[in-house]
Amino acid sequence: MAIPPYLQDKLSPKKRSKGKVLFNFLLIASLSLNVYLLQSPLNPDLTLAPENWSIEVAEAEATEISQETDSVQSPGQEDTPVQAVTAISEATSTETDSEKITEDVSSQLQATPVSYTVPSAENGEELLTLHLKIRNSLTHSVCRAMTKEQGCLTMSAYLSRLLSWKFDINKSMRKGDSLDIAYEMVPGKTRFRILKVVYNSQLFNEVYEANYFNGENTKWGSYFDAEGREIAKRVVDKFAPVKNYQEITSLPGDFRKGPVGHKGTDFKTPIGTPVHASFEAKVLRTNWNVRTNGYCVELDHPREGVKTLYLHLSRVLVKPGQYVKQGDKIAETGNTGRTFAPHLHYEIKSRDQKKIVYNPFNFKHIKSYYNTVALEERELFQKKVNLYDSVLQNS
Ligand SMILES: [Zn+2]
Repeated sequence: MAIPPYLQDKLSPKKRSKGKVLFNFLLIASLSLNVYLLQSPLNPDLTLAPENWSIEVAEAEATEISQETDSVQSPGQEDTPVQAVTAISEATSTETDSEKITEDVSSQLQATPVSYTVPSAENGEELLTLHLKIRNSLTHSVCRAMTKEQGCLTMSAYLSRLLSWKFDINKSMRKGDSLDIAYEMVPGKTRFRILKVVYNSQLFNEVYEANYFNGENTKWGSYFDAEGREIAKRVVDKFAPVKNYQEITSLPGDFRKGPVGHKGTDFKTPIGTPVHASFEAKVLRTNWNVRTNGYCVELDHPREGVKTLYLHLSRVLVKPGQYVKQGDKIAETGNTGRTFAPHLHYEIKSRDQKKIVYNPFNFKHIKSYYNTVALEERELFQKKVNLYDSVLQNS
C-alpha cells in the first residue's frame, strides 16, 4: 500500500528511531555480556582451583617465579595471561573459603593474630613478628594476620615454599597448628625476608623451624634448622643442571595441582650461569615454543628412561641430534620466554606417553644431600638463632 505523501515525513523518522532503539539495545546487551565475561571465571574448570592459585599469583608479585609451559600442555593453557589468572584467583579464593569463613565468624573475635614491631638487639634494626593459628588454609590464616597491602599473599607464598620441604601444605595442615614468624622489611619487589619460621604441627606432633642465615663465606643466604642443616635439599654436582644457585623457587606440583600443575623445578640463578646435562644424552630439540619457553633444550636419556628440559636460557650451545656426556655444558641460564626473573626451569619427565614428572630431589637416578652450616660459621649461626628466638619470645 502506498503511503500518503503527508505521512511519509512522519514515518521515516519513526523507522529510524526503531532502528536506533534496536542498535542501542544490542550495544547495551553486548557491553553487559562483556562485563559479565570479564568478571566471571574464564574456564569453569578453574572455579574450584585451590588456594594454590593465590600462591602462584603472590609468587608472580614477588617476581620469584615463572609460569612455563611446553608443547606438551594442552593448547589454550599456554596463552592464559597472568592477569586472567589473577582475576580468577581472587574470585575463587573468596568462593572456596566462603563456607568455612562463615563457620569461623565467632572464633574470629577470639583469635588474636598479632603483629608487633620490636627493635632487635642488633644494630637497632627492626624485626617484625607474626603469631598465628592455622584456620582453613595457610593463605587465609596469613591474610587474617596481615593485609593484602602489607603483602600477605607474598608472605604466604614464601611460607608455603619453605614448609613444603617438610610436608604437603595442602594436606597436612590442621586447624589450630601454630605458626610464628620473624621477618624484616627489605627494599625491592620481594618486600620482606623471613628470618625465622616455627611451625607446630599437630598431625606430626613436631615443631619445624627454619632460620635464615647468610654466612660470611657463602654467596647467598639460606634456611637451616636448629642443628644447622639446610631446609632445602641440594642435587649432587655430578647431576646438577646448575651447580651454584641462590635457591629453589618452585618444585613440581608445588603451587598448583592437577593437569596444569607446575612441572619443573625452578633454580633461581643469575643470567649466564652454566647449565649442564644431568645424564648422558642425545639432544632432541632446541628452541621450540620460544615465546613461552624462551630459548630451551630437550635431552633424551634412554638409560634413565627420562627426558630433561631446560627453559628460559640466554644461550643454547647444542644442536638437535648431537650427543652429550653427563655434566657437559649445554647452555647458559637466562630470563627468556614467559618468566618474571632470571632462573632455570628444569624438568624431568618419563619418555613414555604418561609423561610422569619427577622431583629431582627424590628421583632415583639423582643423588641429593643436605648442606650444613660450615663449622667455622656455627658460632655466628647460633647467635642469629638466639636473636630470632628472643625476638619471637618477647613479642
Ligand atoms: Zn618453572
